[in-house]
Order: sequence, then structure tokens, then C-alpha cells
Amino acid sequence: MKINKSLIAFLVASLLTVGLAFAGEAKKDDAAKVAGCCTKAAKESKACGHECCVAAAKAGNNCEKCGGHGKAEVKKADAKK
Ligand SMILES: [Zn+2]
Ligand SMILES: [Zn+2]
Repeated sequence: MKINKSLIAFLVASLLTVGLAFAGEAKKDDAAKVAGCCTKAAKESKACGHECCVAAAKAGNNCEKCGGHGKAEVKKADAKK
């Protein structure tokens, strides 16, 4: 019994695409968002001066009061890789 190779290739490609789509969506949900004021400060190589942002940054989070969300990026760790 011969199996259609192109059909198998198509099925594998479909599964991979679905897997990647799921991974992409999961990433989107987990994506951290830096508050606007902190993004502006970072562009000027400064730390945001807002008390709420400083407190959030100390906890390793983005300031939710200012529109941020999730964990703050750890850029130093990425640079080492
Ligand atoms: Zn801020
Ligand atoms: Zn803030």
C-alpha cells in the first residue's frame, strides 16, 4: 500500500503551522508592555521618575498604573547570550 508523500508533507506542514500559531498566541498573551512614560524615559536613557513606576520596576514589573503590563524586560541577561 503506497502512501501519498505529498499528502503527508501537507499534513506535517499544517501541524507545524498550527503549532507555531499557538506558540505565537501564547507569546502575545505573555508579552509584557512597558508603560508609555517609562518607554519615553528609556528612549532618553533615563529611568522613569514616577514613584509608581519605580516601585513596579523594583518588583520586576511594568507599571500597571501607567498602562504597563507584565514582567519588566531584563535586558542585561539577554545581552549576555
Ligand atoms: Zn513610568
Ligand atoms: Zn507608573
